[in-house]
Amino acid sequence: MAVRDILILPDKRLRQKSEPVATIGKTERALVEDMFETMYAAPGIGLAAIQIGVPARVVTMDLAKKDEPKEPQVFINPELISKSGDKNTHEEGCLSIPEYYEEVERPSEVKVRFMDLQGKAQEVAAEGLLATVLQHEIDHINGVLFIDHISKLKRDRVIKKFAKAAKREAE
Ligand SMILES: [Zn+2]
Repeated sequence: MAVRDILILPDKRLRQKSEPVATIGKTERALVEDMFETMYAAPGIGLAAIQIGVPARVVTMDLAKKDEPKEPQVFINPELISKSGDKNTHEEGCLSIPEYYEEVERPSEVKVRFMDLQGKAQEVAAEGLLATVLQHEIDHINGVLFIDHISKLKRDRVIKKFAKAAKREAE
């Protein structure tokens, strides 16, 4: 297991659409282990494989509070199958856009179909934080970032800020 580097905005790979996982073998299980290790080290509550540069439709998550036991969850090939008309606003952040937080409006309830680590088809009806994080991570595997859901003015500002920082680092 290893903590991997997390891709940071404006890394172009974050805009790439990830490929479905066909079978779950040694490679996929190792990927999931690295994702958990990277996510816990960050620390973060959700991570998509593309954030460590692997374009596979794999998401890890742990929504347990700090003083609660860990609740690792894995979603392979997650797919939004329905969403509520009701919306919810939640302050979101992203390990690929560090230290930037903004309110995002999304459907408050969603149904997601996915495969578990045993390769079994599963379905979850989510609301609250789980619904938000699932939508945020499913966006990632489609090359979408949470800043795509905020105003163009705010988005342009944050993209510019991160582009400048990346340039400074490259110099
Ligand atoms: Zn994110």
